[in-house]
Amino acid sequence: MSLPKYVAPAELEGLRTFINSVSPESKADLLTGPDRLEEWCAQNSQCEGAAPADLARLRAFREALRGVLEVNTGSREAGSAWAALEPFAQASGYKMRIDALGSPALEPAGHGAERTIAALLAIVYDAMRRGNWSRLKACRKESCRWAYYDKSKNGSGIWCDMAVCGNRMKAKRRRNRAKSPA
Ligand SMILES: [Zn+2]
Repeated sequence: MSLPKYVAPAELEGLRTFINSVSPESKADLLTGPDRLEEWCAQNSQCEGAAPADLARLRAFREALRGVLEVNTGSREAGSAWAALEPFAQASGYKMRIDALGSPALEPAGHGAERTIAALLAIVYDAMRRGNWSRLKACRKESCRWAYYDKSKNGSGIWCDMAVCGNRMKAKRRRNRAKSPA
């Protein structure tokens, strides 16, 4: 069975599902209450020790992450997006671990939200080093903004799904053109 086309490789998928824990379109949010947080944590390994008090901070971090994904679709200016993420990066702490095979890994320090944020930022760091960061994107359709992994050949996709958001935006542009006087 092949994975859906928007799924990201390895740990990057954990980051993608974190960002998609809220749908900007329907406003359904998995990080709104202790029960929802527990449910999300049960499915995701990055949030050990996260407490209900951490929710607001996690939600703010999530939107800062979505902002840098929008840079990858060209719908947001890079400077302001990275500046919004910087305070979270500043507050994160790590230990470096090297296993018996000599592969180094960043191990997040801290507890609760701090630890979750550090773990997710380590995934950003790894993806940048590996060179596939620019393929993790947020859909350009303003009402969608869903996080997806762009598997197109040249990595130039801007919609989460051409059949859904892409065609809707094209139809809207066509309607607008038809409306405007020649
Ligand atoms: Zn979309």
